[in-house]
Amino acid sequence: MALRLYNTLSRALEVFRPQDPQRVLIYGCGPTVYDFPHIGNYRTFVVYDLLHRYLEWLGYGVRFVTNLTDVDDKTIQGALREGVTIAEYTPRFAEAFLEDARTLGIRPADAYPRATHYVTAMVEFVRRLEEKGMAYQAEDGSVYFPIGRFPGYGKLSRVDLEGVKPGARVAVDEYGKDDVRDFALWKAARPEDEAAGAAWDSPWGRGRPGWHLECSVMSLSELGETLDIHLGGEDLIFPHHEDEIAQTEALTGKPFVRYWLHIKHLLLEGQKMSKSLGNTLTVRELLDRGFEPAAIRHQLLSAQYRKELNFTTAGLEASSRALQRLVDFEARLRETPSDPDAPPTALAALAQEALERFREGMDDDLNSPEAMAALFVFVHAVNGELDRAQGPISTADREGALSALSRMDEVLGLLELARQSRGVDPATAEWVEAKIRERTEARRRRDFSRADAIRAELHSRGIVLEDTPSGTRWKVVR
Ligand code: AMP
Ligand code: ZN
Repeated sequence: MALRLYNTLSRALEVFRPQDPQRVLIYGCGPTVYDFPHIGNYRTFVVYDLLHRYLEWLGYGVRFVTNLTDVDDKTIQGALREGVTIAEYTPRFAEAFLEDARTLGIRPADAYPRATHYVTAMVEFVRRLEEKGMAYQAEDGSVYFPIGRFPGYGKLSRVDLEGVKPGARVAVDEYGKDDVRDFALWKAARPEDEAAGAAWDSPWGRGRPGWHLECSVMSLSELGETLDIHLGGEDLIFPHHEDEIAQTEALTGKPFVRYWLHIKHLLLEGQKMSKSLGNTLTVRELLDRGFEPAAIRHQLLSAQYRKELNFTTAGLEASSRALQRLVDFEARLRETPSDPDAPPTALAALAQEALERFREGMDDDLNSPEAMAALFVFVHAVNGELDRAQGPISTADREGALSALSRMDEVLGLLELARQSRGVDPATAEWVEAKIRERTEARRRRDFSRADAIRAELHSRGIVLEDTPSGTRWKVVR
């Protein structure tokens, strides 16, 4: 079995083989920091995280880079509206992005390059393209990429270039181009750019980088000439990624990216989400409405990344219930009395089967709903076994089941978040369980005053106990 990923370049599922298994190089287009990222952006970023975690789970070393687009039309407009520079305008949104990412259990990237920190390298990139005859300055002062001179143009998006005829309408601020389809590498500064502090010196006069150039230069600087995987939302295939390929390959003469993965856009309550419809939703708005981060993450993973996903508040409630089952299951398993000499149970086989199914799901182009189904089938089956168990179960079986659970959660990242929002960090959980063992022992000795004292102590810390035929369970009451 091997991991297969759908490569937009070939339009096919391909077995994933990195250049160097010790160092898989991944670049994901990050947020434009002009506003708070919305829940759709986080579908994309949670999928980046899922891939990052799964590759590490499989034993690969990973270098994962995601950028912050802090200079483009939107950040400039935002800054101008407030009468500040982009340097003053963008940091709060960059911070918000990182904070929401932490909230959703997204593991940190190895680097978060910001476009404005790479302008010198961007100018150098364009200068070298110009030397190769792959960049020219037009009448309007901007520098363009001549797509007609790059034979592979269109190979990612399979765009019909004939459809865009020379002489067609030209963007109002772009004139003098050799071919209407050429895209800007470097944009001549307008007075607004100067006002927003978004203009730099260059051999072509004052100006600023084009958006596509930013990602090419940041990925080249941080990861080198050939990436293993490049990620982005589906809207970025054309022109953003097509243009990244053209300019980077024109410069290096090497393949730019081996696997291109694109994440389908999230729908919100059945609708396309957009600023103009006024129906964008942010992570912080969801938290304010009382939804827990783990439920948000769970719902974002509930469809495979190329399938349609409709995010709804009703779905979030179902996610919360699923997570409660998971948390209760872990607690129950931890508290189940065990004995090293107890006879073996079916738990070992169930754990192995669950891990195999989980891996099959993930190997199938990161099929997260299949992987989660493997986890929940396991929970159901083990609960059944524990219901049937008479007396303590085999210690090895119990530990094996707990470890299968945490192995699966290393990739999904659900239980760790669910525990946090229920106020139970692993150290507290361990302390509670030690107290419960002490109480069980006291009751066995018929030392009921000691047992009651322990129950009261736990209660004073917001923890309630529930005695069931299969042992004592506990819950945190908020
Ligand atoms: P932006 O901040 O607009 O540059 O977008 C950041 C990332 O989020 C890009 O990879 C986009 O493709 C992605 N994205 C934007 N809208 C959605 C959506 N509704 N669903 C999923 N991903 C999205
Ligand atoms: Zn990009």
